[in-house]
Formats: sequence, C-alpha cells, structure tokens
Amino acid sequence: AQDHREHPEDFLTTTGILETQEVLLKDKMFYGKTIDTIKAESVNAEWALKKVVTAAREIFQSMSDPYLKERVVDVAHLSERIMQNLVGAVSVDISKIGRRVILVAPDLSPAETSQIQLERIKGFVTDKGGKASHTGILARSLEIPAVLGLDHATTDIKNEDLIIVDGSAGIVIIDPGEKTLIEYEERKTLYEEHKAAIRRGSKAPAKTLDGQRLAVLGNIERSEQVASVLDYGGEGIGLYRTEFQYMGRSDFPTEEELTDKYAETIEVASPRPVTIRTLDINGDKYIAAQSGQEEQNPALGLRGIRYCLQRPEVFRTQLRAILRAAVHGNVSVMFPMVATVREVLAAKQAVREAAKSLAQDNIAYNDSIRLGVLVEVPSAVMMADVLANEIDFFSVGTNDLIQYTLAIDRVNEKVAHLFRPLDPAILRMLKHLTDVAKEKNVQVFICGEMAGYPIHTPILMGMGMNGLSVNPQSIPSVKQMIRSIRMHETPALVAEALRLQSAEKVFQLLQSTYKDILEEIDQRKR
Ligand code: PEP
Ligand code: MG
Repeated sequence: AQDHREHPEDFLTTTGILETQEVLLKDKMFYGKTIDTIKAESVNAEWALKKVVTAAREIFQSMSDPYLKERVVDVAHLSERIMQNLVGAVSVDISKIGRRVILVAPDLSPAETSQIQLERIKGFVTDKGGKASHTGILARSLEIPAVLGLDHATTDIKNEDLIIVDGSAGIVIIDPGEKTLIEYEERKTLYEEHKAAIRRGSKAPAKTLDGQRLAVLGNIERSEQVASVLDYGGEGIGLYRTEFQYMGRSDFPTEEELTDKYAETIEVASPRPVTIRTLDINGDKYIAAQSGQEEQNPALGLRGIRYCLQRPEVFRTQLRAILRAAVHGNVSVMFPMVATVREVLAAKQAVREAAKSLAQDNIAYNDSIRLGVLVEVPSAVMMADVLANEIDFFSVGTNDLIQYTLAIDRVNEKVAHLFRPLDPAILRMLKHLTDVAKEKNVQVFICGEMAGYPIHTPILMGMGMNGLSVNPQSIPSVKQMIRSIRMHETPALVAEALRLQSAEKVFQLLQSTYKDILEEIDQRKR
C-alpha cells in the first residue's frame, strides 16, 4: 500500500481491512509513538500500546466521515492482536477445530460459542461464566453438554484427558473408570429415549386439566432455529435475539441482509407470531464492530436500547429491516433494557421515522406491528403502569431482572449459586407486573430462562402470564407440565409462595406440591 498519510481519507476509502491494518502497524502513530512512550515514561510495552491506541481511537472517532469513523474497528483489531502477542496469549479459532473434541477453555464469549460446529465440538467446559450467561443459554439451545464456571477446569484438565461432561448435574469427571463410563453410556441412551418420548407428545396443545390454554413459544438466536422451535411444538417465537447476526464480523450487517434474515424467520414461522427483540449488544455480548470501547461496568453501561438510541443509524437500519420483513407475517417488536418511559417514547419515535423513510423511498413495509417492552430492569417493573400506556405487551426478561434486582452478575461463577428465580423479591416483582398488566389490559409474557423449568410453570400461570417463551428444547417438558396441572389451583399456590421468605422455601413448596408430576417429567434429565 502506498503512503497516503497526507490524505488518509482517500486512502482509507479505497483499501481493504488487512491492508489498513498493515499500514496502521507500520504507521508512526502506532509503532513510533509506542516506542517513544516506552522511552519517555519508562512503562512496559503493553501499557504504552494501550495509551497510543486510546489516543488513535479518539482521532478516528472524531472524524466526520462515517466510513472512516467505523475504521476504529481496524485499530481495535490490530491492537488486540499485538496485545495478544505481547502477553503471550495463544488464540484459537473455534470455527477451525478439525476433530471431535470437548473444548476446555478459561472463558468462551457468546460470539465464540455461536461459532461452535456441532459435529466437531461435543461439549465444553469453562473456568468462568454462569448458567444464565449468554454462553450458557447458547449451549442449551445448541443442545451441547456444557459445564460453566468450574474455576480451575483449565488447570485440572490436560490435553487428551478422557472426560465426561454431565451438563444436567453440572459436573465433569476426569479420567473415569470403566464402570463410570458404562454407567454414563447407559444414562446417555436413557436420556435420548426420554427426550424422544417427551418430544413425541409435544405437538399437542398446552392445555391444563381444567381446560386453560397457554401459549408456549421458543427463544431463538438465529433464524435457522425457527424450524427447531416448531419441531419441538413451539407456537411461535417469543424472543428473537437479533444481536448474534452482528457478532463474529467486523462491520455492521446491511439493511438488505437483516431484511432477508428476518423475512426468512417470519415466513417459516408464519402464521405463528414472531417477537423480534431489537439489538441488545454490550453487557456480556460484544460485537467486533464495536470493540475497543471497554466499559468498567458493562452490564450497567451502554447496553440494549441505550446503545440503539445513541447510534440512531444502527437502530434505523434494523427498524427499517424489521418493518420491511413484517409484510411476511405476524410480527411484534420489543425493546431491551428499558429503564425509563422516555426510552420507550424515543424508540417508538424511531419506529415511526423508520416507517416514514421507507414510505419516502417507496419501499414496501408493514407498521401494524405490536410494540412491547422487555422488562428486565427493576425500574421498568416499578413504572409498569406508565409504560403500559405506551405499549401493547410486556415480556419479562428474568435473566437480567434477577441480575439487576439481586445484584448478581449473571456471568460471574462466584455468585452463580445466588442466582435464584424463586427469590421472594423476584416473585413480588412478577406479581406486581402481572397485576398491572391485567389492570391496564396489556399482555404479559415471560422469556427469561426461568420460564424453561417446569417447576416454575404453575407459579407463572397462577400469576396470569399470557405466554411462556423458552429454549426450544424446553418446550416439550413445559407443555407437559401445563397438561398435568389444574389452572384453578395456581392462584392459591402463588398466594402461598408469596408468603414465604426464601427461594429455598418456595422451591420446597413447589417440589412437594408437584412431586409426582415433576418426577414424571424428570426435570433433572433436561
Ligand atoms: C433476559 O434478560 O431474561 C432475556 C430474555 O434477555 P437476554 O438473556 O438475552 O439478556
Ligand atoms: Mg436480557
């Protein structure tokens, strides 16, 4: 590449990413300044590089040309690679693993997990992470055995060790004896048979013994999963986590790409409903196109709707794609991480503007879609009556609601044992929200992982949830639970549970009330 430093804009708009990185690497801005900083400040190379990169990022970000502004991504990628070399980290490209293995890693990001190839990677174990993390959720939806947050898995397990990953019990057995191996082979066969049996009944509607119907829908991360939701007996998509289409790439997807994916999802599900959640990045889901903008408290940072409202062009692209795809079927849209009514008003305004711009461009769209709020921040529960005036439905995201209410980092294995959906504080929040929803005549769904456990189903029904959206493979057992209980008994159960003071006590109440049914569903084998 030629040296275009005099006119960087000419150069950068015409060259490829690798070339950009090569030039950056040779550039004085990086190389020279890093060396100068080491000399002048007597700091180590990593620190010097970090300082230089931060300054470089600011320069790129202050550029007015949106393309050049986005090149901050190249700066970030390059600095990450140099940094990896400096600290001696070896990076493995998961998508390139060529043989059948169990992956043992310090940590796996949601982006890495989404690249797992099922025919090669048979299970995974990590030192870090909790089961409510997106990595854990993805593992469940990939139906791959996984145990997260084992703390010293990477030191205890050596390459080529024979290990058993028991995802149901959350244990890993290193170097099992022959007896254990045979026992686990048998358990695996039983598990497969049990799953197949539950699945056979899964197409029947979810109707309680006294005739109450409840919608059971599926959560997906990729459009290809719609088929699996329908196959498991799901009645539509209750949560489409759209951010995964933004991961594992260094640019943002275009409106056309997004429109195609959404249209595909909606068409396959049609006439069943599809609830598209707008982009929920940051928190534990970084995208490369955004990399290098670390936050000290990402879970409390520029996440979900906050990010989209600050990046109107990114939001607009997604909203236009959703409205365009909505001509193919039955679509709802919900906004993540809403903490205030102002955010809802701004998001609705963005939807109106997206529709208007499509009309101006003469592009077909459908804006008769339902709009909802993903209730996952405690303030949204407290303000539910006000929010209800602005939207058509609520959907409770308990993964984050628990994180923010009980102050439990969902990706931190050290506090994973405190992550309790049946905590009285959570039950009170759910009760408050469902009461407000009833009063205000808006629908209320739940799409957090909590909804995927049959033991929770009677409580959620008793509170008056209009539908449950769960991991595809949890649909059959949740439907079986619904078919095994009586709706009219559930409000009393809720009242009793609300009088208890700990998650353990509520759990015992549910366990003893539904012991036989739960044993039949055998939730431990899920
Ligand atoms: C939730 O927070 O419960 C939720 C459904 O969203 P996510 O798990 O993607 O944060
Ligand atoms: Mg969430």
